[in-house]
Amino acid sequence: MIQIEFHGGAGTVTGSKHLLRVNNDEVLIDCGMFQGLKELRQKNWSPPIFDPAGLRWVLLTHAHLDHSGWLPRLVRHGFRGRILCTAATRDVAQIILMDSAKLQMEEAQYRNRRGITSHQPALPLYTQEDVLETMPFFQTVEYARWVELTPQISFQLVDVGHILGSGAIELRLQDERRTVRVLASGDVGRYDMPLHRDPQDAPECDALLLESTYGARAHLAQRPEEQLLAVARKVVERKGILLIPAFAVGRSQQVIFVLHQLFDSGRLPRIPVYLDSPMGINATKVYCSYAGPYRLDAEALRGGVCTLFGKGLKIVKTPAQSARLAGLKGPAVIISSNGMLTGGRVLHHLRNLLPNPRNLVAMVGYQAAGSRGRYLIDGAQSLRILRDEVPVRAEVADLKAFSGHADVNELLRWTRNIHPRQCFLVHGEPQAAEALALRLREERDWNVSIARLGERVEL
Ligand SMILES: [Zn+2]
Repeated sequence: MIQIEFHGGAGTVTGSKHLLRVNNDEVLIDCGMFQGLKELRQKNWSPPIFDPAGLRWVLLTHAHLDHSGWLPRLVRHGFRGRILCTAATRDVAQIILMDSAKLQMEEAQYRNRRGITSHQPALPLYTQEDVLETMPFFQTVEYARWVELTPQISFQLVDVGHILGSGAIELRLQDERRTVRVLASGDVGRYDMPLHRDPQDAPECDALLLESTYGARAHLAQRPEEQLLAVARKVVERKGILLIPAFAVGRSQQVIFVLHQLFDSGRLPRIPVYLDSPMGINATKVYCSYAGPYRLDAEALRGGVCTLFGKGLKIVKTPAQSARLAGLKGPAVIISSNGMLTGGRVLHHLRNLLPNPRNLVAMVGYQAAGSRGRYLIDGAQSLRILRDEVPVRAEVADLKAFSGHADVNELLRWTRNIHPRQCFLVHGEPQAAEALALRLREERDWNVSIARLGERVEL
């Protein structure tokens, strides 16, 4: 018996959790947190339908919260198995999970102080102690090395260039009758992007779990450096502030890398760049520490030294230093998280910068339904931020070229050599998944279905 069950990342881009059953063994692929709309976030509080105590392995495609953010909860529900991923994914996951715990603890404290909670008292989903209890369950593996979990279950990781350490998971599963090759894409990165490597071609499989974040969209042909240059020039002319709400892992480092390139080539006058994200600073350190083995863009390393830091990048460590940026005179760039504007230091900057038309807010990542970031790119006239209704007079730009996700054409390119018997679309909002399903059925004649939450399928 070989089955798959979808416990998250089905009909939504968050909460990825796919459970494989092979006879009596269970393997969970990713263990993400639900984010965005309240009805989704509430799912984080429900115990899983499967038994975490009986689960022996979690295979992690990459460290982003929507793929790793529920791990401390899984441990709290009794999981005592192994969490397998690349070393870079483990290091980045620790940073992301600690930050997530901190935000939740602060949110719970805030709600209790103000009495705005229907729960008495409001609790964090997990604490930093829970994260520290989770980390010993991690065990690292290398890319492209088969790992045998049991004689019936083995897997390897295939680099997909989404963020540092990210990989698709290729599995060989065996029951009493046959062998089934399963490929779980995780988030697929893009081709010819700054800093990250190109995705390696999808290996042949019988069943494919394919992400569909941008199943309905073809990214513009424009290069990330051109899009960033265009908005940066505007703020230089206006002497404004360019605020880049960046995903702390991946996008922040790419933005820093491209800004350095634009300054070095003389295409952009050198203006101050502030990295105001404790998580972004830590993640940049991890990027630098893996610059060798994970072969980041050769230009990120000069003489064996990582160039992401330095060259005038200003590190903003403390909340007090961050608050002082309110008096910053333009032109300047502030990179601050989080990327979807759902929390973090970026909110103070938004409240401060949005009312002034001299400033420009440049979004560089996917904005989930229900996030402030989505409202902003959809043209909101004002935003509710930290209890204030803030008018949006600053220019808002959506730098789609920085997307970390393959678009529909890149997903087709990534899968060009394979012929799965079954394809399940995961990690996409319904419209995006529908559009990709249509393309795959028409152009590939594949048997495609869109995964539904709670669904169980025989492979
Ligand atoms: Zn991701």
